[in-house]
Amino acid sequence: MVDLKSQYDKIKPEIDRNIQEVIDSTAFIKGGKVVDFQKNLENYLGIKHVIPVGNGTDALQIALMALGLKAGDEVITPTFTFIATAEVVALLGLTPVVVDVDFDTFNISVESIKRAITPRTKAIVPVHLFGQNADMEAILALAKEHNLFVIEDACQSIGSVYTFKNGETAQSGCMGDVGCTSFFPSKNLGCYGDGGAIFTNNDELAQKMRVIANHGMQVRYYHDTVGVNSRLDSIQAAVLDVKLKYLNDYIAARQRAAAFYDNAFRNNEKLIIPSRNPNSTHVFHQYTLKLKDVDRKTLIEKLQERGIPAMIYYPVPLHLQKAYRDERYKNGDFPIAERLCACVLSLPMHTELDAEQLNYIVESLLSEL
Ligand SMILES: *Cc1c(COP(=O)(O)O)cnc(C)c1O
Repeated sequence: MVDLKSQYDKIKPEIDRNIQEVIDSTAFIKGGKVVDFQKNLENYLGIKHVIPVGNGTDALQIALMALGLKAGDEVITPTFTFIATAEVVALLGLTPVVVDVDFDTFNISVESIKRAITPRTKAIVPVHLFGQNADMEAILALAKEHNLFVIEDACQSIGSVYTFKNGETAQSGCMGDVGCTSFFPSKNLGCYGDGGAIFTNNDELAQKMRVIANHGMQVRYYHDTVGVNSRLDSIQAAVLDVKLKYLNDYIAARQRAAAFYDNAFRNNEKLIIPSRNPNSTHVFHQYTLKLKDVDRKTLIEKLQERGIPAMIYYPVPLHLQKAYRDERYKNGDFPIAERLCACVLSLPMHTELDAEQLNYIVESLLSEL
């Protein structure tokens, strides 16, 4: 699904030099490289505060911890997504409230959010799934109307740009109160291990989140709040600081691959190509087709035989996961998410796909339909 080795080979001298500098300095934790990367990412995003942390899940957890929510407070998140958003809500003793998504864009449905808001709702956690922003203008308006926090899960969408009706633009993860991203190796900006970051323009929240990420400690060995230990290490920051320079090129490469797939599949009656939110660019963390009247399992096996990986993101919606089953929800409650789980198929998508590979994937898929 990804080719991190070919990507590394192209930037090997820079990466190796940067990592070697960290080793020579022995500043493995909170070293200068972390600060360099933090500043460079703040500039790229045009945001006041980037707080580097250990991974994307921690980023979401720390963001929620900083909001001062109480047990039983409700947090709305989509049911068609990776588990992390509901997981951190549950871990903190808050109540995850899942809602359905939009069939075309895979992203959280604003109408579905509206129906789920109660007096106990405190926050909305939209996920910019597969690399394009959710309908943020409507979500922010709804949040304002009901006095809710918005924590964006931008783990798959870093670099995606949203355009508001007045023409203003914003980077993914920089529109709500807090944005969270992951630098997991296969993410669009990936390191060589685990990593994540929190974004905010709110000085007070930024300070709280920095303290929480550092054991609730402002003055060394004095702990004012319950915190966690979550940090980006210097070697990962050294990798990320190089790759950040190429992020826009990487995005362009993904978009070219997506355009190639689109052209090949657009007119096939058994395939629905991914729709674009007209207010957002798409950075294609995943290229996800919807299959019509296709035996997905057999197709995946046939592709596998030809050496082509294809994955189901995601096979089971959150409300039907064993750990999150809840008397509030049953099969059929979120028909769009359930339908998507049954028909989605993600194809290889990364920065190193060449014409030959793309042709092979496209021809193989079309001949196995
Ligand atoms: C990857 C991912 C996460 C979690 O990031 P980690 O760094 O693996 O903890 C959270 N949400 C979404 C949508 C993701 O894709």
